[in-house]
Amino acid sequence: MRLVLLGPPGSGKGTQAVRLAKQLDIPALSTGDMLRAAVSAGTPVGMQVKATMERGELVPDKLVVAIVAERIRRPDARFGFILDGFPRTVAQAEALDDLLQADRLRLDWVLQLKVDEASLLGRILNRATEAMASGNVRADDNEAALRVRLAEYRAQTEPLITYYRAQGILRDVDGLRSMDEVTASLNEALDA
Ligand code: AMP
Repeated sequence: MRLVLLGPPGSGKGTQAVRLAKQLDIPALSTGDMLRAAVSAGTPVGMQVKATMERGELVPDKLVVAIVAERIRRPDARFGFILDGFPRTVAQAEALDDLLQADRLRLDWVLQLKVDEASLLGRILNRATEAMASGNVRADDNEAALRVRLAEYRAQTEPLITYYRAQGILRDVDGLRSMDEVTASLNEALDA
């Protein structure tokens, strides 16, 4: 199964992607995690994107598409994957369609976690506080960067809702309930 998990920052995408991936025995692929790993390792890509990520802005389409193109063709992804944080622009979605089509594949479902914006800032700041306790805080989990991330989501990523609805593969799930309830709803959406 080839899935995309769509939702604003703080909607719980990462947690749910990992849970679903375990259940379905396919990898959860987070472009944010891949980029953060590149930054930590100090690779050329990491050095190129570090400041952009810290501001909460999106990194260039070409760069992320290249990373995803390489990743989804690895052996562990041959029976499927869950993309978390990709695509984030219509250009990325089109590139993904082209990549899959070249291998005669397509996405099965795009699952959208619906969360109202008012609750997002609180969630992210909570995550930052919890992470601080474990000494592992994200450079972009602060109010200034979060506002930019939300603005980027609205301007660049929300158009994907129309894009995937037109393809008939979008399913909505209420992301505001408990983690377990959201996981259950995602499973229902996949079974429906
Ligand atoms: P995330 O962990 O998904 O919240 O991503 C963290 C940051 O990584 C984002 O704010 C962007 O700077 C960058 N990023 C992750 N995925 C993408 C993407 N698909 N396109 C552009 N930038 C991305």
